[in-house]
Amino acid sequence: MTLLALETSCDETSAAVVRDGQILSNTVSSQIKLHAEYGGVVPELAAREHLKNLLPVARAALAEAKISPAQLDALAATRGPGLAIALLIGFKAAQAVAFALNKPFIGINHHEAHLYSPWIQNASPSPLGGERAGVRGGNATAQHSTFNIGHPTSSKAAGSPVPSMVNVECSALNVSHKPHPSPSIPLPSEGRGKSEVASLCAIASPSPLRGERAGVRGELLPFADFSKFQPNVSLIVSGGHTLLVLVESELKHRVLGGTIDDAAGECFDKTGKLMGLPYPAGPLIDKLAELGNPAAFDFPRPLLHDANDDFSFSGLKTSVRYFLRDHPALLDDRKQVCDLCASVQAAIVEVLVKKTIRAAKREGVRCITASGGVTCNSALRNELERACKRNGFTLRLAEKSLCTDNAAMIGILAERKLLANASLPSLDEEIRPGWELA
Ligand code: ADP
Ligand code: MG
Repeated sequence: MTLLALETSCDETSAAVVRDGQILSNTVSSQIKLHAEYGGVVPELAAREHLKNLLPVARAALAEAKISPAQLDALAATRGPGLAIALLIGFKAAQAVAFALNKPFIGINHHEAHLYSPWIQNASPSPLGGERAGVRGGNATAQHSTFNIGHPTSSKAAGSPVPSMVNVECSALNVSHKPHPSPSIPLPSEGRGKSEVASLCAIASPSPLRGERAGVRGELLPFADFSKFQPNVSLIVSGGHTLLVLVESELKHRVLGGTIDDAAGECFDKTGKLMGLPYPAGPLIDKLAELGNPAAFDFPRPLLHDANDDFSFSGLKTSVRYFLRDHPALLDDRKQVCDLCASVQAAIVEVLVKKTIRAAKREGVRCITASGGVTCNSALRNELERACKRNGFTLRLAEKSLCTDNAAMIGILAERKLLANASLPSLDEEIRPGWELA
């Protein structure tokens, strides 16, 4: 089965072509730079960017896969959870193409797709004689500048691989651009340490923002290997969610717990903001923490010893805020900023790792998986690896390029579901912005 998947749930526009478990292309256009100015994702701006970028991104994915729309057997898109006006764009576009091509369409839960993304591997000999590229991730494809493609209005031009999507753009949402004022959280550090923090930001390479390139052009194609599937406890950690899920068998799962307030990624981003780091602060904290001492400052480990699988990170954020209020000079000292990053990161990672291991032991599974943007964090990856080794668990971490929002994981799950007839595809479906995993 050859399938085109679209993902527009938040701040990344992504399109992927998947065939029989292999990812022929996975194109991502990130809006990180745009939203950084506002300190977080501005929904109206996100929607405008999706509208502008969806067709070029979809064309790029089809071209990369050397697939024409007529060769598609099915369409898929993220149905939820996410920002309503962002979801609508990819979801309705995919439905329109499915309608035009008279092919099945399936709407996918973004988090359910994360659950299976750790089973996608990098290395598989290309059946196409080494002509295709692998997953497009990393900086090379994360930037708009890499898309040297005309804008959707010109999509009737000869050779447009997605002619039926022109109509989608014509009936696009009427989203007006009204710049939001930057959300102003009063910073205890305001005015202090600005130069130190700014120079530290320059040291921290921007490369981790989008993870690593998962495939090498002409050599490898990433593929989903469910032959090795085993029941697992899955940690999903992103900017908006923190979830522990028991995946009993393929397409069968049960949520064990989640955050009762802030998500882990939100905690990274908001504590970083208190330090004066730009949005999203997670990757920068990761880099700066490498130069710091994780035991330098003692921050709380919320809910660590509670007998449940829930998380809470807002108290940790507050304690960093009070800590900075009481130690304002700390931001003038490079070493101490790095120590602070390492200490905050250690608190978040310890809670995530210990609660994941405890849940896996209790549920009697032998495998742990992790996905979502925060799974790019090197301390989290290392600590999960160490803890799994110590406790005899198999660990499967999603490839970094598949941790943040991407259409490849949507396509892989969509194909599994269509093949298993797990849900009846329908063109009448609507988006579900608040669609939580059950
Ligand atoms: P969402 O779609 O919910 O915003 P994503 O899956 O796109 O989440 O992940 C983005 C989140 O991941 C942000 O909060 C970002 O700070 C965090 N993140 C990305 N890389 C890292 C890292 N190396 N360390 C910590 N957090 C990270
Ligand atoms: Mg995102």
